Amino acid sequence: VWLPLGVAISAFAVVLMLRLLRRIQSPRYRLLDAINASELRVYYQPVVNLSNGRVVGAEALVRWPQPDGSMLTPDIFIPLAEQTGLISRITRQVVQSVFRDLGDYLHVHPDMHISINLAPEDLFSDDLLDLLTPLLARWQVEPQQIALEITERGFADPKVTSPVIERLREAGHKVYIDDFGTGYSSLSYLQDLPVDILKIDKSFVDALEYKQVTPHIIEMAKSLRLEMVAEGVETESQADWLRLHGVQYGQGWLYSKALPPGEYIAWFNQQNATLLT
Ligand code: C2E
Ligand code: MG
Ligand code: MG
Ligand code: MG
Repeated sequence: VWLPLGVAISAFAVVLMLRLLRRIQSPRYRLLDAINASELRVYYQPVVNLSNGRVVGAEALVRWPQPDGSMLTPDIFIPLAEQTGLISRITRQVVQSVFRDLGDYLHVHPDMHISINLAPEDLFSDDLLDLLTPLLARWQVEPQQIALEITERGFADPKVTSPVIERLREAGHKVYIDDFGTGYSSLSYLQDLPVDILKIDKSFVDALEYKQVTPHIIEMAKSLRLEMVAEGVETESQADWLRLHGVQYGQGWLYSKALPPGEYIAWFNQQNATLLT
């Protein structure tokens, strides 16, 4: 009678161990661990004025360092974070990193701005505004230097999100509509959106000569008096085309990939020095 009991107990122990291991290795658990240990990093990709080459600021892009030294990009773990309720903690850490990384710098260069990506959930309450207000005061950063990027999904439930977006704008933050054109929303709604700047998605910047819809997006933005940032600019000919069509700003590998804070500041200083000489 002891033998089968022993077998049962060890089988049970093995199952428990396997479960625990699975939990430890589950992506959500690992992400939670990384958040608790403040392991996420923020990289900065410069945004350039297409007409004179000046750096006007950067977009903050989150990265997750892996044990093998590689960096996981957000298109893999942001959806996971959104599904598992971790996204607002990530937003919080990204906002805090931006002020820690560049607070002093923004103070010295009042023309520079940083844009931060938000998820729809960040627009369900005023938590973000409550986080930003004391940080701006502490670092002496102007609210217009911190812009917020919101995808069309963030406007999908306007009854809830529009008042929050309006309060962020009233506080002085610029609001960008991100990845414009990739959502499912109708164009008529754009008229009523509380936004300042439109980001043209990379998919409309790739192979521009074949894209018949891109000029229409640009015309529409102009008629709504929205400034534009083109994302994913990789070649001089794309930059020329965009400039000719009246797009003010560009961002992409032609200028720089997203860089860790120290490298971004070095890049910014060098770029400004080149323009002054
Ligand atoms: P996004 O906001 O559209 O950011 C632009 C993405 O395009 C970035 O990818 C950037 O590295 C990439 N990119 C920029 N220029 C080029 C180029 O010339 N060529 C190519 N092939 N790619 C370029 P990344 O960093 O992987 O970010 C992916 C997306 O994850 C972002 O798309 C944004 O929607 C989201 N994301 C990033 N950081 C955060 C964050 O802190 N919070 C939230 N909620 N979402 C974030
Ligand atoms: Mg963005
Ligand atoms: Mg974008
Ligand atoms: Mg995009």
